[in-house]
Amino acid sequence: MGNIKRSVVDIIKKHALIHKMARYAYKDYNDIKNRREFYSRIKQINPDEYLDTSNKPDLNVIILTVDCLRDSQLSYNGYFRETTPFLDSIRGSKFTAISSAPWTYPSVASILTGLYPHTHGGILSGKVKEFYLKNFMKIKGNLLTLPEILFLLGYRTYFGTAIDVAFYPLRGRVVPSKQKGIGDYSAEELLEDLKKWISKSDKPFFAYVQLGDLHEPLNPPNSFRNFFGEVKNLHNIDLWDFRRREEQRGKKFQEYKENRILLYDNTLRYVDYSIEQFHSFLEDSGLIDSTVLIITADHGDEFWEHAELEAKNFYDPRGFYGEGHGHNVFNEIIEVPLILSWPKIPNKRYGKLVSTIDIMPTILDLLGVNHKLSFDGLNLFESKEKRALLNEAAGFGYEKKALVIGRFKLIYSKHDDIAWVFDLEKDSEEQNPIRDEELVSMFVDKLNRILAKRGKLKIREIIKLKESGINK
Ligand SMILES: [Zn+2]
Repeated sequence: MGNIKRSVVDIIKKHALIHKMARYAYKDYNDIKNRREFYSRIKQINPDEYLDTSNKPDLNVIILTVDCLRDSQLSYNGYFRETTPFLDSIRGSKFTAISSAPWTYPSVASILTGLYPHTHGGILSGKVKEFYLKNFMKIKGNLLTLPEILFLLGYRTYFGTAIDVAFYPLRGRVVPSKQKGIGDYSAEELLEDLKKWISKSDKPFFAYVQLGDLHEPLNPPNSFRNFFGEVKNLHNIDLWDFRRREEQRGKKFQEYKENRILLYDNTLRYVDYSIEQFHSFLEDSGLIDSTVLIITADHGDEFWEHAELEAKNFYDPRGFYGEGHGHNVFNEIIEVPLILSWPKIPNKRYGKLVSTIDIMPTILDLLGVNHKLSFDGLNLFESKEKRALLNEAAGFGYEKKALVIGRFKLIYSKHDDIAWVFDLEKDSEEQNPIRDEELVSMFVDKLNRILAKRGKLKIREIIKLKESGINK
């Protein structure tokens, strides 16, 4: 049997066309499986137990998550290049949010459940985090996602992503409308597909789209590739290079770093342009008044700001330090933009910090949905200035957690033996932890109290799903 299987795999590998067809067939098979799981689960839920279904909202909702978009790189936040002229000018409520996780997988699941990763469970298993499919855990079966709730209220739902790991933790919990591997779809391709889908029906709709342009490989169209200056064609300029600490010095490294950031900024300018085009479509279709548009990110990206501190203090099984995301919780990785645009909400840049777990409860409130669900997040218009905000669920190395409270921030990694508190007002670049044991233990205590609330959520009691066919 093993031999036959091997020969079939060999034949498929040898013939590009067969290989392509096999890939499509496999994708179709998975799409059908995922759809079936979604609909069979939905059938078993009695929405009246936790939703007031007599009130049917009709406001459309679109969430655009720009993968790897760090808050500090937007020009409305004072970045030196005009990377985001459209987002600078868009009418809406603008916040800086702490993402719930430093990488895609747990972070997207948080956006669509309103829960922290330790509550929804869509995280990597194991003490040392490594990127193997077998370590990927799905979100808990007894939770409800935003697309499920809105589907139950009569919405059409859409989930499109250029980053496949955005979809994995939510398998069977969203209808996969468009899904590809890492960075495979451009912003324009995804948004074009979304436009077609929107044009098909007059029912209220919910759409979630994960744009992958800023995630490696960076490959903006030629018209944007050299937008702020010509990017040198250096080795791995579209990916990451100089990943090991001992390589990160000298002229070659400086040249790479400058060009890598330039390529990121040029690509961001393209993403901004694509969102502007999409927004024009909403205007031309007369959908602005009836649609809440949310633009955010799942996490940021590091450009070597903390390479030295990381290499000295944190274990990474890859031996890579200072670049990308998933490996640590410094601000360039966890601070993301959060923009809500709809004519009936304030046109204002808010100073208070919020979280990406606030998106779901805020949407349900804007739609006027009466529900009995509990969230870790809050309606962000009602949240207080100095809330404790958590980022957790590492993608590489030991678990790391960040707890931000006003001007102070704790970075905690038990197995790296790290508990640092930074005063962000005096040390915005997070380079000099405060040496005050009492203060540190206060913050660690607060973190433990937040984590101990796990399981207190009443969702398990509220959603009485039938046992059969439900993935627990
Ligand atoms: Zn991501």
